[in-house]
Amino acid sequence: MILESARKMISKYTLCDSCMGRQYGGLARGVTNRERGRAIKLVLAMEGHVECRKGDPEGEAKADGERLLRALAANGGFQPAANLLGSAGGEAGGCCHICGGTLDRIQDYAEGAAKALEGYGFNNFLVGVRVAGDMAEREDALKTEFAIEFGESLKMEASREIGKEVSKMLKKEVEFDRPEIVVTIELPGPGFEVRPMPMFIAGRYRKLVRGIPQSKWSCVHCGGKGCEICHGTGKIYPTSVEEIITGPVLAATGGAGAKFHGAGREDVDATMGGNGRPFVVEVKGARTRSVDLAALEAEINASGGGKVEVVDLKYSDKRRVRSLKERAKVAEKTYRALVEVGCPVSEEALRTLEKSFNGGVINQLTPNRVLHRRADKLRLKKVHEMMARAVGDRMIELVVRCQGGLYVKELISGDGGRTKPCVADVIGCSARCVELDVIAVNEGA
Ligand SMILES: [Zn+2]
Ligand SMILES: [Zn+2]
Repeated sequence: MILESARKMISKYTLCDSCMGRQYGGLARGVTNRERGRAIKLVLAMEGHVECRKGDPEGEAKADGERLLRALAANGGFQPAANLLGSAGGEAGGCCHICGGTLDRIQDYAEGAAKALEGYGFNNFLVGVRVAGDMAEREDALKTEFAIEFGESLKMEASREIGKEVSKMLKKEVEFDRPEIVVTIELPGPGFEVRPMPMFIAGRYRKLVRGIPQSKWSCVHCGGKGCEICHGTGKIYPTSVEEIITGPVLAATGGAGAKFHGAGREDVDATMGGNGRPFVVEVKGARTRSVDLAALEAEINASGGGKVEVVDLKYSDKRRVRSLKERAKVAEKTYRALVEVGCPVSEEALRTLEKSFNGGVINQLTPNRVLHRRADKLRLKKVHEMMARAVGDRMIELVVRCQGGLYVKELISGDGGRTKPCVADVIGCSARCVELDVIAVNEGA
């Protein structure tokens, strides 16, 4: 069945070894299509030779055999067939009907790809291939015409074979699932496009002062272009945790852009202390992937100027971003809140307060203050533990350990009835959070 279809194919079309072998590329392992193609051509040449030798000199078999040898010599560019024909061999045929000789230039493409990758730092890579429309169409038509069942595509073969050569040249591995960089080659070309895949650096940050938002906050009046209200900065706050961290990350990686992913966020006026809040920076277009993380950490902490600092920088991946977001919704947080109360609160009332919230479940509707950007919905969140103490006249301090996603300011005030139960209701007068600090983010919980 292989020889039958291959015989018809080579009798009709000029095919290079690779394009011939590729039509049977799904059969037998550990050989290249070029080797397959050559093996098929060799067996066909032997068939032709048998027909020539056994056939009656004037008969049809001999004529068929000679025709086959001629096709192999001309269309197949197969020298052993030409040798059998001697001077009657004729001219070797032109370019391969499908690839036009492209697959004979694997080495050239590999050199071009290696050159295009110069200047990028990476540990592994992938070669992608875009096949010109007419080339792909010719291949499809041939597969249909000869009812090819176990073939491979030109795209697959080219990217694999070029990848092997580039790997040898650069001494780096080809990575199919999660390559650090992809070089895409246009066939027949010439075109090389290099695309570094996003790079991820994770860590934890502490925000030691109030008044710094987690992400860059564009001016609402000018949309970030700069106007009188924002003094031409385009921003509401002069800096942000995001900017303090991503600046040095971009400088170290030579990236084109960065995206900051935090495991939840604290309010602008809240500090973030303790072990810090987990984050991941996604770097696009990184030119360098081996960064001295200790030096980067020092760099960020210097740029943070004592306001923001990072710890535990490490390489990460996309999955970590997803789990960061998922876990942030439930990860346990501990807050310290300074609360102004509308009436004197006795020690006994403070104990009652602690008792009534320990292990309590809070019904919380989206706070009024974030309703403009968040959907109105009810969330049930648990308070694991509350500790309360008086710190001055009508001033109490609360330490609240609770499930992630609970809005603590509203847990205190009640948000006009939208959060129940609340601190204000339990003590029986108004309560307002005047200072909020996140003192721990316990991701494991
Ligand atoms: Zn070809
Ligand atoms: Zn503005």
